[in-house]
Amino acid sequence: MFNLNEYPLPFRETDLVPYMSVETVRLHHDKHLGTYIANLNKLIADTKYAEMDLREIILASAKDATATKIFNNAAQIFNHEFFFNCLGRGNNLIPDLMSDEFGGVAEFKEKFKAVANDVFGSGWVWVVRRPDKKFEIISTKNADTPIAHGLKPVLVLDLWEHAYYLDYQNRRADFVDCFLESLIDWKFVVDNLGVE
Ligand code: MN
Repeated sequence: MFNLNEYPLPFRETDLVPYMSVETVRLHHDKHLGTYIANLNKLIADTKYAEMDLREIILASAKDATATKIFNNAAQIFNHEFFFNCLGRGNNLIPDLMSDEFGGVAEFKEKFKAVANDVFGSGWVWVVRRPDKKFEIISTKNADTPIAHGLKPVLVLDLWEHAYYLDYQNRRADFVDCFLESLIDWKFVVDNLGVE
């Protein structure tokens, strides 16, 4: 059984104002993530998945055509925990290791924005590290997650409407800009780079 209490926000609800409102943070964490957790608990009860940890559920259900709902809810839990961990107000610390690969900080931001602005419908924009250690900016649709494809997540932006609509309405590109400029906890990103 999974529990929302095991996924506390790593910041205070007011920390991201004005770039992300308290209402958005509260709904996103308590209601959206809470619902994915409640759904997963119901779906895995009395199945082989009930004995697995979250990552094991994601990897096993990704290969199980009968477990799409389990995959979607488990992956959303992973994606949201990672997303909330990426949020904070520590700026201007983009690791050289990463930005150099894109040709510099400005180039990294432009590439990230281009991938984000190409997302149609609900999805996620990621910086991932490939097995050869190269960084790449990719998007995934719906609940899909890099760990199901052997890629290590480095940074993620939630582009489902619930992530931004209360604060930005139809101005999704503004949300992407604010994320890059003001909402990333680069310390988490850097610390996480060394963890395999
Ligand atoms: Mn979300």
